[in-house]
Amino acid sequence: MVMPSSRVEKIPPYLFARIDKKKEEARGRGIDLIDFSIGDPDIPTPKNIVKKMQVAVRDPKNHRYPVYEGMLEFREAVANWYLKRFNVNLDPQTEVIALIGSKEGIAHLPWVYLEKGDIALVPSPGYPVYRITTLLAGGKPYIMPLREQNRFLPDFDIIPKHILEKAKIMFINYPNNPTGAHADELFYRKVIKLAKEHNILICHDAAYSEVTYDGYRASSILEFDRSKKYSIEFHSLSKTYCMTGWRIGFAVGSKDAIYNLGKLKTNIDSGVFQAIQYAAIEAMTGKQNSVQNMKKVFQKRRDMIVEGLASIDIKVKKPLATFYIWAKVPQGYTSASFCEKLIEEAGIVVTPGNGFGDEGEGYFRISLTVNDKRIREAIERLQQLKL
Ligand SMILES: *Cc1c(COP(=O)(O)O)cnc(C)c1O
Repeated sequence: MVMPSSRVEKIPPYLFARIDKKKEEARGRGIDLIDFSIGDPDIPTPKNIVKKMQVAVRDPKNHRYPVYEGMLEFREAVANWYLKRFNVNLDPQTEVIALIGSKEGIAHLPWVYLEKGDIALVPSPGYPVYRITTLLAGGKPYIMPLREQNRFLPDFDIIPKHILEKAKIMFINYPNNPTGAHADELFYRKVIKLAKEHNILICHDAAYSEVTYDGYRASSILEFDRSKKYSIEFHSLSKTYCMTGWRIGFAVGSKDAIYNLGKLKTNIDSGVFQAIQYAAIEAMTGKQNSVQNMKKVFQKRRDMIVEGLASIDIKVKKPLATFYIWAKVPQGYTSASFCEKLIEEAGIVVTPGNGFGDEGEGYFRISLTVNDKRIREAIERLQQLKL
């Protein structure tokens, strides 16, 4: 047997494997599962985007290798969207790059910046890609705990000075998966100040910037880093336009970061299928009413679930963004034991918080990707449950 590299061996075991096994067992026993563990909108991609794709896919000029950094037209659409949405000017030639989904760019970034043993500041709980790709690239993740008493923002004051001196990159993600938390202006100002003082590149994952409720408007980190020297921001069309399966996103910000990420990527991939780039241009420049409709659907579900949880004495504040609810497990349970109980005794699947890092222990995540009828049924089942 050929052994895999230590790099691959270092990847921690898949944390949801146990839940998947429980799910399978429950299904085997004929239990009708209601699955709140899927971080993928159940709403189809808007029709105007699909139509554009149908036209673009027929054009033979789109069948060839794409321009690796994204067609200029695509990058211009991104720059125009940024100007309109955040009042941030971007040079489409040097400050924008297309990605095969934002996950692709996030996963490659540590390879651009980390030498063996270099530190990346990584939030916990958090999107697992930050930590794992830091490890793969040979870097050292330094965990920034996100705590409820701090509104799930990292506390920079508790990071030792020698760590800040050694850190090269920092991942942050607001609006946040899995906590649903959002960041205020003061937070972004603090982050940029820290980045300047310690020469750290801030990697802001803004995948949920458009999935917001109750009038809340999320910021771009570039609104606070006008020099664009200290940050790179990752965006995705996946969540905003219900396009998770299409695989397109982009990064913007620091010229150096965009250039070097592009340099790495030309040696790994060959860009995004041009027909998909045309569809993405339509998404960003066409009618935006689908975004409003999607938010209405999620907002209603959010309210139903928060009220349902309150009826069984699990109290959570309504998140102002994302399609996740992050709640504490009842007293006497761990994340795993509570999630297993929900599957076995109520046929309800939620994600155990510790799957997002050790600091997620004691919590569970509910995705708002289940329709109203099934949500009502799930709440009835929860109310029958003995906790
Ligand atoms: C969904 C998600 C992404 C990645 O989306 P792509 O489909 O790869 O563009 C990135 N970050 C977070 C936090 C996400 O939840």
